[in-house]
Amino acid sequence: MEYIIVGAGLSGCVIAEQLAENPDNHILLIDKKKHIGGTCFDFYNDDGILVHKYGPHIFNTADREVWDYVNRFTEFYEYYHRVLGYVDGELVPIPFNLKSIRKLFPEEMAARLTEKLLEKYGYNTKVPILELDRQDDADLKWLSEYVYEKVFFHYTVKQWGQRPDEVGGRAMARIPVFVSTDDRYFQNAYQGVPKYGYTKMMMEMISSPNISILLGTDYHSILRRIEEDHTIRFLDREFNGKVIFTACLDGLFDYRLGELPYRSLDFQFQTLDEESHQPVATVNYPCNYGFTRITEFKKLTFQKHPKTTIMKEFSLAYDYRDDKHDPLYPIPKTANEELYRSYREEALKYKQLVLAGRLADYKYFTMAETIENALRIAKELKSSS
Ligand SMILES: Cc1cc2nc3c(=O)[nH]c(=O)nc-3n(C[C@H](O)[C@H](O)[C@H](O)COP(=O)(O)OP(=O)(O)OC[C@H]3O[C@@H](n4cnc5c(N)ncnc54)[C@H](O)[C@@H]3O)c2cc1C
Repeated sequence: MEYIIVGAGLSGCVIAEQLAENPDNHILLIDKKKHIGGTCFDFYNDDGILVHKYGPHIFNTADREVWDYVNRFTEFYEYYHRVLGYVDGELVPIPFNLKSIRKLFPEEMAARLTEKLLEKYGYNTKVPILELDRQDDADLKWLSEYVYEKVFFHYTVKQWGQRPDEVGGRAMARIPVFVSTDDRYFQNAYQGVPKYGYTKMMMEMISSPNISILLGTDYHSILRRIEEDHTIRFLDREFNGKVIFTACLDGLFDYRLGELPYRSLDFQFQTLDEESHQPVATVNYPCNYGFTRITEFKKLTFQKHPKTTIMKEFSLAYDYRDDKHDPLYPIPKTANEELYRSYREEALKYKQLVLAGRLADYKYFTMAETIENALRIAKELKSSS
Protein backbone atom coordinates (compact mmCIF):
# COMPACT_ATOMS: atom_id res chain seq x y z
CA MET A 1 0.00 0.00 0.00
CA GLU A 2 1.17 3.54 -0.79
CA TYR A 3 0.96 6.32 1.77
CA ILE A 4 1.83 9.99 1.56
CA ILE A 5 2.20 11.71 4.89
CA VAL A 6 1.98 15.49 4.86
CA GLY A 7 4.02 16.82 7.78
CA ALA A 8 7.11 15.25 9.36
CA GLY A 9 6.21 16.36 12.88
CA LEU A 10 5.63 13.92 15.70
CA SER A 11 2.26 12.77 14.29
CA GLY A 12 3.71 12.13 10.84
CA CYS A 13 6.80 10.34 12.20
CA VAL A 14 4.83 8.03 14.52
CA ILE A 15 2.36 7.07 11.78
CA ALA A 16 5.22 6.52 9.29
CA GLU A 17 7.07 4.34 11.80
CA GLN A 18 4.00 2.21 12.44
CA LEU A 19 3.08 1.78 8.76
CA ALA A 20 6.68 0.90 7.87
CA GLU A 21 6.44 -2.23 10.03
CA ASN A 22 4.80 -3.84 7.01
CA PRO A 23 7.52 -4.30 4.34
CA ASP A 24 4.85 -4.01 1.59
CA ASN A 25 4.01 -0.46 2.60
CA HIS A 26 5.75 2.47 0.91
CA ILE A 27 5.60 5.74 2.71
CA LEU A 28 6.48 9.18 1.42
CA LEU A 29 6.90 11.64 4.28
CA ILE A 30 7.00 15.28 3.22
CA ASP A 31 7.41 18.58 4.99
CA LYS A 32 7.60 22.16 3.81
CA LYS A 33 10.33 22.84 6.35
CA LYS A 34 13.92 21.83 5.73
CA HIS A 35 13.92 19.72 8.88
CA ILE A 36 11.86 16.93 10.38
CA GLY A 37 10.34 17.13 13.85
CA GLY A 38 7.72 19.85 13.38
CA THR A 39 7.22 21.85 16.54
CA CYS A 40 9.39 19.43 18.54
CA PHE A 41 12.48 20.13 16.42
CA ASP A 42 15.69 20.73 18.35
CA PHE A 43 19.23 21.36 17.12
CA TYR A 44 22.72 22.39 18.23
CA ASN A 45 23.15 26.12 17.62
CA ASP A 46 26.36 27.81 16.42
CA ASP A 47 27.69 27.79 19.99
CA GLY A 48 27.10 24.05 20.28
CA ILE A 49 24.15 24.32 22.67
CA LEU A 50 21.09 22.12 22.16
CA VAL A 51 18.02 24.34 21.78
CA HIS A 52 14.33 23.75 21.02
CA LYS A 53 13.51 25.88 18.00
CA TYR A 54 9.79 26.24 18.72
CA GLY A 55 9.73 26.53 22.49
CA PRO A 56 10.72 24.26 25.38
CA HIS A 57 9.41 20.69 25.13
CA ILE A 58 9.13 18.44 28.17
CA PHE A 59 7.82 14.94 27.76
CA ASN A 60 5.29 13.86 30.35
CA THR A 61 2.58 11.25 30.45
CA ALA A 62 0.60 9.01 32.74
CA ASP A 63 0.24 6.48 29.93
CA ARG A 64 2.65 3.55 30.25
CA GLU A 65 2.07 2.44 26.67
CA VAL A 66 3.09 5.84 25.27
CA TRP A 67 6.12 5.95 27.58
CA ASP A 68 7.24 2.47 26.50
CA TYR A 69 6.75 3.45 22.88
CA VAL A 70 9.04 6.53 23.00
CA ASN A 71 11.62 4.61 25.00
CA ARG A 72 12.07 2.31 21.99
CA PHE A 73 13.76 5.18 20.14
CA THR A 74 15.78 6.99 22.78
CA GLU A 75 16.94 6.99 26.35
CA PHE A 76 15.51 9.73 28.53
CA TYR A 77 16.96 11.93 31.23
CA GLU A 78 14.66 11.97 34.21
CA TYR A 79 13.65 15.61 34.30
CA TYR A 80 10.97 17.33 36.38
CA HIS A 81 10.01 20.70 34.99
CA ARG A 82 9.78 23.49 37.54
CA VAL A 83 8.51 26.90 36.49
CA LEU A 84 9.01 30.09 38.45
CA GLY A 85 7.00 33.27 37.91
CA TYR A 86 8.26 36.78 38.55
CA VAL A 87 5.54 38.16 40.82
CA ASP A 88 5.82 41.30 42.94
CA GLY A 89 9.60 41.18 42.77
CA GLU A 90 9.94 37.52 43.80
CA LEU A 91 10.47 34.33 41.84
CA VAL A 92 7.71 31.98 43.01
CA PRO A 93 6.54 28.52 41.90
CA ILE A 94 3.96 28.38 39.09
CA PRO A 95 1.32 26.94 39.33
CA PHE A 96 0.81 29.03 42.43
CA ASN A 97 1.17 26.76 45.45
CA LEU A 98 1.77 26.77 49.19
CA LYS A 99 5.46 27.67 48.64
CA SER A 100 4.41 30.67 46.52
CA ILE A 101 2.10 31.80 49.32
CA ARG A 102 4.90 31.47 51.90
CA LYS A 103 7.34 33.40 49.72
CA LEU A 104 5.07 36.32 48.86
CA PHE A 105 2.94 37.08 51.90
CA PRO A 106 3.69 38.09 55.53
CA GLU A 107 4.10 35.06 57.79
CA GLU A 108 0.79 35.32 59.62
CA MET A 109 -1.21 35.89 56.46
CA ALA A 110 0.52 33.00 54.67
CA ALA A 111 -0.23 30.70 57.61
CA ARG A 112 -3.92 31.72 57.61
CA LEU A 113 -4.34 31.17 53.87
CA THR A 114 -2.53 27.83 54.04
CA GLU A 115 -4.69 26.64 56.91
CA LYS A 116 -7.91 27.60 55.13
CA LEU A 117 -6.86 25.93 51.89
CA LEU A 118 -5.82 22.75 53.68
CA GLU A 119 -8.97 22.64 55.75
CA LYS A 120 -11.31 23.20 52.82
CA TYR A 121 -9.62 21.21 50.05
CA GLY A 122 -7.01 18.95 51.64
CA TYR A 123 -3.38 18.48 50.71
CA ASN A 124 -2.32 17.87 47.08
CA THR A 125 -5.48 19.20 45.46
CA LYS A 126 -5.65 21.58 42.51
CA VAL A 127 -8.28 24.23 43.08
CA PRO A 128 -9.31 26.44 40.15
CA ILE A 129 -9.26 30.11 41.12
CA LEU A 130 -12.89 30.38 40.03
CA GLU A 131 -13.74 27.87 42.77
CA LEU A 132 -11.90 30.02 45.37
CA ASP A 133 -13.81 33.06 44.18
CA ARG A 134 -17.12 31.29 44.80
CA GLN A 135 -16.36 30.82 48.51
CA ASP A 136 -18.00 32.89 51.21
CA ASP A 137 -14.60 33.67 52.69
CA ALA A 138 -12.84 37.03 52.30
CA ASP A 139 -9.33 35.51 52.46
CA LEU A 140 -9.94 32.89 49.78
CA LYS A 141 -11.70 35.43 47.57
CA TRP A 142 -8.74 37.77 47.99
CA LEU A 143 -6.30 34.99 47.07
CA SER A 144 -8.35 34.18 44.00
CA GLU A 145 -8.23 37.82 42.87
CA TYR A 146 -4.51 38.08 43.61
CA VAL A 147 -3.64 35.01 41.52
CA TYR A 148 -6.03 36.09 38.79
CA GLU A 149 -4.41 39.51 38.55
CA LYS A 150 -0.74 38.73 39.19
CA VAL A 151 -0.35 35.34 37.55
CA PHE A 152 -3.17 34.98 35.07
CA PHE A 153 -4.70 38.18 33.72
CA HIS A 154 -1.70 39.94 32.18
CA TYR A 155 -0.10 36.67 31.08
CA THR A 156 -3.30 35.72 29.25
CA VAL A 157 -3.54 39.11 27.57
CA LYS A 158 0.09 38.75 26.45
CA GLN A 159 -0.28 35.13 25.35
CA TRP A 160 -3.67 35.28 23.64
CA GLY A 161 -4.02 38.96 22.80
CA GLN A 162 -7.39 38.80 24.57
CA ARG A 163 -8.76 39.10 28.08
CA PRO A 164 -9.36 35.81 29.93
CA ASP A 165 -13.15 36.14 29.67
CA GLU A 166 -12.78 36.29 25.88
CA VAL A 167 -10.80 33.04 25.79
CA GLY A 168 -12.73 30.03 27.01
CA GLY A 169 -12.23 26.33 27.55
CA ARG A 170 -8.95 24.75 28.54
CA ALA A 171 -7.03 28.00 28.75
CA MET A 172 -9.25 29.15 31.62
CA ALA A 173 -9.27 25.76 33.34
CA ARG A 174 -5.47 25.76 33.36
CA ILE A 175 -5.12 28.17 36.26
CA PRO A 176 -5.27 26.45 39.61
CA VAL A 177 -3.90 27.07 43.07
CA PHE A 178 -2.10 23.86 43.97
CA VAL A 179 -2.67 23.08 47.63
CA SER A 180 0.73 21.43 47.91
CA THR A 181 4.44 22.05 48.27
CA ASP A 182 5.07 19.91 45.18
CA ASP A 183 6.42 22.51 42.76
CA ARG A 184 6.80 20.25 39.74
CA TYR A 185 4.91 21.66 36.75
CA PHE A 186 3.56 18.20 35.86
CA GLN A 187 2.59 15.41 38.24
CA ASN A 188 2.48 12.57 35.70
CA ALA A 189 4.30 9.33 36.49
CA TYR A 190 6.61 9.48 33.46
CA GLN A 191 8.54 12.65 32.75
CA GLY A 192 11.77 13.43 30.97
CA VAL A 193 13.67 14.77 27.99
CA PRO A 194 15.31 12.58 25.33
CA LYS A 195 19.03 12.28 26.02
CA TYR A 196 20.11 13.18 22.49
CA GLY A 197 17.18 15.44 21.64
CA TYR A 198 13.76 15.08 20.00
CA THR A 199 15.06 15.32 16.43
CA LYS A 200 17.37 12.37 16.99
CA MET A 201 14.48 10.43 18.57
CA MET A 202 12.28 11.06 15.53
CA MET A 203 15.10 10.25 13.10
CA GLU A 204 15.24 6.85 14.77
CA MET A 205 11.48 6.46 14.27
CA ILE A 206 11.66 7.06 10.54
CA SER A 207 14.87 5.14 9.79
CA SER A 208 13.09 2.31 7.94
CA PRO A 209 14.07 1.89 4.26
CA ASN A 210 10.34 1.88 3.34
CA ILE A 211 10.11 5.54 4.34
CA SER A 212 11.21 8.18 1.83
CA ILE A 213 11.60 11.69 3.15
CA LEU A 214 11.10 14.82 1.11
CA LEU A 215 11.87 18.07 2.93
CA GLY A 216 11.45 21.68 1.84
CA THR A 217 8.36 20.62 -0.12
CA ASP A 218 4.97 22.20 0.31
CA TYR A 219 2.24 19.61 -0.37
CA HIS A 220 0.55 22.06 -2.74
CA SER A 221 3.41 21.44 -5.18
CA ILE A 222 2.88 17.67 -5.41
CA LEU A 223 -0.72 16.97 -4.39
CA ARG A 224 -3.90 18.25 -6.00
CA ARG A 225 -7.39 18.00 -4.62
CA ILE A 226 -9.99 17.26 -7.29
CA GLU A 227 -13.26 18.76 -6.19
CA GLU A 228 -15.45 16.98 -8.78
CA ASP A 229 -14.79 13.39 -7.68
CA HIS A 230 -13.23 14.03 -4.25
CA THR A 231 -9.92 12.44 -5.08
CA ILE A 232 -6.35 13.51 -4.55
CA ARG A 233 -3.80 13.41 -7.36
CA PHE A 234 -0.08 12.99 -6.83
CA LEU A 235 2.22 14.74 -9.33
CA ASP A 236 -0.87 15.13 -11.49
CA ARG A 237 -1.40 11.40 -11.73
CA GLU A 238 -4.03 9.18 -10.21
CA PHE A 239 -3.01 8.05 -6.73
CA ASN A 240 -4.66 5.05 -5.11
CA GLY A 241 -3.06 5.23 -1.69
CA LYS A 242 -3.92 7.18 1.42
CA VAL A 243 -2.88 10.72 2.27
CA ILE A 244 -2.29 11.30 5.96
CA PHE A 245 -2.63 14.98 6.47
CA THR A 246 -1.14 16.74 9.53
CA ALA A 247 -1.11 20.36 8.29
CA CYS A 248 -3.77 23.12 8.62
CA LEU A 249 -7.16 22.23 7.21
CA ASP A 250 -8.12 25.74 6.07
CA GLY A 251 -5.06 25.80 3.78
CA LEU A 252 -6.15 22.54 2.14
CA PHE A 253 -9.37 24.25 1.07
CA ASP A 254 -7.73 27.55 0.06
CA TYR A 255 -9.29 29.33 3.08
CA ARG A 256 -12.59 29.46 1.26
CA LEU A 257 -14.73 29.27 4.41
CA GLY A 258 -12.46 31.68 6.30
CA GLU A 259 -9.16 31.44 8.18
CA LEU A 260 -8.80 29.30 11.28
CA PRO A 261 -7.24 31.64 13.84
CA TYR A 262 -4.04 30.66 15.65
CA ARG A 263 -1.63 32.35 18.00
CA SER A 264 2.01 32.25 17.09
CA LEU A 265 5.25 33.09 18.84
CA ASP A 266 8.32 35.06 17.99
CA PHE A 267 11.31 33.29 19.55
CA GLN A 268 14.32 35.42 20.38
CA PHE A 269 17.46 33.41 21.14
CA GLN A 270 20.52 34.79 22.86
CA THR A 271 23.74 33.05 23.87
CA LEU A 272 25.28 34.54 26.98
CA ASP A 273 28.85 34.40 28.15
CA GLU A 274 27.89 32.90 31.48
CA GLU A 275 27.42 29.35 32.62
CA SER A 276 24.04 29.80 34.25
CA HIS A 277 21.38 32.46 33.78
CA GLN A 278 18.37 31.61 35.95
CA PRO A 279 17.54 29.07 38.68
CA VAL A 280 15.20 26.88 36.58
CA ALA A 281 14.61 26.12 32.89
CA THR A 282 11.58 28.41 32.55
CA VAL A 283 10.73 31.69 34.24
CA ASN A 284 7.37 33.28 33.44
CA TYR A 285 6.91 37.03 33.39
CA PRO A 286 3.15 37.51 33.81
CA CYS A 287 3.19 41.26 34.54
CA ASN A 288 6.55 42.62 33.40
CA TYR A 289 8.10 43.05 29.97
CA GLY A 290 6.67 42.24 26.52
CA PHE A 291 7.72 38.59 26.52
CA THR A 292 5.84 35.85 28.34
CA ARG A 293 8.72 33.68 29.49
CA ILE A 294 12.45 33.00 29.32
CA THR A 295 13.75 29.47 28.84
CA GLU A 296 17.33 28.44 29.51
CA PHE A 297 17.81 25.17 27.61
CA LYS A 298 20.79 23.76 29.48
CA LYS A 299 18.59 23.57 32.59
CA LEU A 300 16.40 20.98 30.89
CA THR A 301 18.87 19.17 28.65
CA PHE A 302 21.57 18.68 31.33
CA GLN A 303 24.21 19.89 28.88
CA LYS A 304 27.49 21.13 30.34
CA HIS A 305 28.86 24.19 28.53
CA PRO A 306 30.69 27.36 29.62
CA LYS A 307 28.06 29.50 27.83
CA THR A 308 24.27 29.31 27.96
CA THR A 309 21.47 30.01 25.48
CA ILE A 310 18.22 31.61 26.56
CA MET A 311 15.05 32.22 24.59
CA LYS A 312 12.35 34.85 25.06
CA GLU A 313 8.86 34.25 23.68
CA PHE A 314 6.73 37.06 22.30
CA SER A 315 3.18 36.10 21.42
CA LEU A 316 1.44 37.35 18.26
CA ALA A 317 -1.50 36.61 15.97
CA TYR A 318 -0.71 34.10 13.21
CA ASP A 319 -1.16 35.07 9.60
CA TYR A 320 -0.61 32.35 6.98
CA ARG A 321 0.78 34.94 4.54
CA ASP A 322 3.72 35.52 6.89
CA ASP A 323 6.13 32.63 6.37
CA LYS A 324 8.38 33.60 9.30
CA HIS A 325 5.91 32.40 11.91
CA ASP A 326 4.00 29.17 12.47
CA PRO A 327 0.46 28.37 13.58
CA LEU A 328 1.10 27.23 17.16
CA TYR A 329 -1.97 27.51 19.38
CA PRO A 330 -5.53 27.06 18.09
CA ILE A 331 -7.79 29.62 19.80
CA PRO A 332 -10.42 27.68 21.77
CA LYS A 333 -13.59 29.61 20.87
CA THR A 334 -16.93 28.25 19.74
CA ALA A 335 -16.93 30.15 16.43
CA ASN A 336 -13.47 28.79 15.57
CA GLU A 337 -14.46 25.25 16.47
CA GLU A 338 -17.56 25.55 14.27
CA LEU A 339 -15.46 26.81 11.37
CA TYR A 340 -13.07 23.89 11.92
CA ARG A 341 -15.99 21.41 11.85
CA SER A 342 -17.13 22.81 8.50
CA TYR A 343 -13.68 22.24 7.04
CA ARG A 344 -13.56 18.77 8.56
CA GLU A 345 -16.89 17.87 6.94
CA GLU A 346 -15.44 18.90 3.58
CA ALA A 347 -12.29 16.87 4.21
CA LEU A 348 -14.23 13.72 5.13
CA LYS A 349 -15.69 13.66 1.61
CA TYR A 350 -12.23 12.62 0.40
CA LYS A 351 -11.98 8.93 1.20
CA GLN A 352 -8.20 8.91 0.68
CA LEU A 353 -7.67 11.57 3.30
CA VAL A 354 -6.86 10.81 6.95
CA LEU A 355 -6.55 13.75 9.35
CA ALA A 356 -4.05 13.57 12.18
CA GLY A 357 -2.26 15.83 14.64
CA ARG A 358 -2.67 19.15 16.33
CA LEU A 359 -3.09 21.24 13.14
CA ALA A 360 -5.48 18.98 11.23
CA ASP A 361 -7.49 18.46 14.44
CA TYR A 362 -7.32 22.16 15.40
CA LYS A 363 -6.60 21.17 18.97
CA TYR A 364 -3.72 21.59 21.39
CA PHE A 365 -2.14 18.18 21.97
CA THR A 366 0.76 17.41 24.26
CA MET A 367 3.40 15.16 22.73
CA ALA A 368 2.00 12.20 24.65
CA GLU A 369 -1.53 12.92 23.37
CA THR A 370 -0.11 13.34 19.87
CA ILE A 371 1.53 9.91 20.07
CA GLU A 372 -1.55 8.24 21.53
CA ASN A 373 -3.65 9.71 18.75
CA ALA A 374 -1.12 8.79 16.03
CA LEU A 375 -0.84 5.21 17.29
CA ARG A 376 -4.63 4.86 17.20
CA ILE A 377 -4.82 6.22 13.64
CA ALA A 378 -1.99 3.94 12.49
CA LYS A 379 -3.77 0.95 14.02
CA GLU A 380 -6.96 1.80 12.13
CA LEU A 381 -5.00 2.20 8.90
CA LYS A 382 -3.23 -1.12 9.40
CA SER A 383 -6.45 -2.98 10.08
CA SER A 384 -8.24 -1.46 7.07
CA SER A 385 -5.48 -2.16 4.50
C1 LIG B 1 5.49 26.50 22.16
C2 LIG B 1 5.06 25.06 22.35
C3 LIG B 1 5.56 24.36 23.43
C4 LIG B 1 5.17 23.03 23.63
N1 LIG B 1 5.66 22.37 24.73
C5 LIG B 1 5.28 21.09 24.93
C6 LIG B 1 5.76 20.38 26.09
O1 LIG B 1 6.53 20.90 26.89
N2 LIG B 1 5.33 19.10 26.26
C7 LIG B 1 4.46 18.48 25.38
O2 LIG B 1 4.11 17.32 25.61
N3 LIG B 1 4.01 19.13 24.29
C8 LIG B 1 4.39 20.41 24.03
N4 LIG B 1 3.94 21.07 22.92
C9 LIG B 1 3.06 20.34 21.96
C10 LIG B 1 3.86 19.61 20.86
O3 LIG B 1 4.64 20.51 20.14
C11 LIG B 1 2.85 18.91 19.93
O4 LIG B 1 2.15 17.96 20.65
C12 LIG B 1 3.48 18.21 18.72
O5 LIG B 1 4.46 18.97 18.11
C13 LIG B 1 2.40 17.88 17.70
O6 LIG B 1 2.98 17.26 16.56
P1 LIG B 1 2.23 17.30 15.16
O7 LIG B 1 3.01 16.44 14.26
O8 LIG B 1 0.79 16.99 15.33
O9 LIG B 1 2.29 18.83 14.69
P2 LIG B 1 3.53 19.65 14.13
O10 LIG B 1 4.73 19.41 14.95
O11 LIG B 1 3.07 21.06 13.97
O12 LIG B 1 3.79 19.04 12.67
C14 LIG B 1 3.07 19.44 11.53
C15 LIG B 1 4.03 19.48 10.37
O13 LIG B 1 3.32 19.80 9.18
C16 LIG B 1 4.17 20.59 8.38
N5 LIG B 1 3.41 21.35 7.39
C17 LIG B 1 2.54 22.36 7.64
N6 LIG B 1 2.06 22.86 6.48
C18 LIG B 1 2.65 22.13 5.48
C19 LIG B 1 2.58 22.21 4.07
N7 LIG B 1 1.84 23.14 3.44
N8 LIG B 1 3.30 21.31 3.33
C20 LIG B 1 4.10 20.39 3.95
N9 LIG B 1 4.21 20.31 5.31
C21 LIG B 1 3.49 21.17 6.05
C22 LIG B 1 4.85 21.51 9.39
O14 LIG B 1 6.04 22.08 8.86
C23 LIG B 1 5.10 20.54 10.55
O15 LIG B 1 6.39 19.97 10.47
C24 LIG B 1 4.27 22.41 22.71
C25 LIG B 1 3.78 23.13 21.63
C26 LIG B 1 4.16 24.44 21.44
C27 LIG B 1 3.59 25.21 20.29
